[in-house]
Amino acid sequence: MSKVSIREVRQYDNGLIKESLYKSLSEIGFDLARLKGKRIAVKPNLLLSSKPEQAIVTHPEFFRAAVQIIKDAGGVPVLIESPAIHSLSKVFRATGYDKVIKEECIEVDLNQDIMSITNESGQRYKHFEIMKSVAGTDLIFNLPKFKTHGLTYVTGAMKNLFGLIPGMAKTQWHLKANTRELFSDFLVDYFEAVCSLFIKPKGIVHLMDAIVGMEGNGPSTAGKPREIGAVIVSEDAVAADFIASSLVGFNPKLIKTISIAAGRGLGKKGFNEIEFDRGVFNKLRLEKFESAPLPFQVRLEKFKRLNNLIKRLTVERPVPIEGKCTLCYQCRQICSAQAIDKGSIVASFNYDKCIRCFCCIEVCPEAAIRIQGNILSRIFSPKH
Ligand code: SF4
Ligand code: SF4
Repeated sequence: MSKVSIREVRQYDNGLIKESLYKSLSEIGFDLARLKGKRIAVKPNLLLSSKPEQAIVTHPEFFRAAVQIIKDAGGVPVLIESPAIHSLSKVFRATGYDKVIKEECIEVDLNQDIMSITNESGQRYKHFEIMKSVAGTDLIFNLPKFKTHGLTYVTGAMKNLFGLIPGMAKTQWHLKANTRELFSDFLVDYFEAVCSLFIKPKGIVHLMDAIVGMEGNGPSTAGKPREIGAVIVSEDAVAADFIASSLVGFNPKLIKTISIAAGRGLGKKGFNEIEFDRGVFNKLRLEKFESAPLPFQVRLEKFKRLNNLIKRLTVERPVPIEGKCTLCYQCRQICSAQAIDKGSIVASFNYDKCIRCFCCIEVCPEAAIRIQGNILSRIFSPKH
């Protein structure tokens, strides 16, 4: 059995969050003495510079409560993160992290040196590069924000660790693992590699900010904030993702990372395999939480007999929106396929080069890129 603590919190109030996290850590049997005298990597989701109320990043008050707990227990929190495109200082300013970092005197890891890690049991991928400084820490406090995601369905505990791969190297993985299936395999192979660095007495604790999550076209500017009212804590990332996804009414079977990871024994994925408070779960359970519109490329995976030509003709594509695009070209910077060029009214997309990773949608600060469907996608339009 894995333990997942789920508690109701409805405000980004330092006292409430901290009290809740303390109770949650106690409920899962986490011994705070493990933090004493240790360097603790704190990994929030800082996808890009945005306001906390947009629900793109882990809320700064959630981060504050987590680092206070580490400090109270005699540990040293070190913020480790590598945003997709913006500099850390820009993200800190926009999100309000700069204030918390200063007030709480938090060390920020600015060393972008990388190290290679290997997962010999990786099913598809074995070698990864992560920020070297992670290896110098004793434990990770992983602080995911619960959001929808077009490629992986949700982004939660497992996906948040992807952020330990330095900035632009992340987009290379989108290029390499360019389908939902490949990317999910990659995430699980990578997750297992990171876990192998933190076997006991080290460890990874997942403290999920689901107070306000994101629904719709997540995980970035096109998604919609939605109150969930939950803080979810576990040492089992798979179980935490399972509970969070179930809480908002998603079918966990549709989330490949959960089923692949559980199938490999990296965590639990069933109500009968997880110890959690059913009363709180039932009270907080949401209905009609809007999922991200899955790219047709993802849905097409069900129709494996269709040949590549049809696939090329039917996949959806990212289209910049006139009147919203400001020609900032942040999409161009993130595009590992070099499919975006300068344009006169909107950014210019080359769909022969585009691999449909949709990273451009994630980083566009204006929500100025939409996914354009096609005739077949509208005919099939399967429910997911
Ligand atoms: S599509 Fe978005 S990211 Fe790209 S140039 Fe336009 S506003 Fe900037
Ligand atoms: S244009 Fe957008 S979706 Fe296409 S490869 Fe570039 S970042 Fe990915």
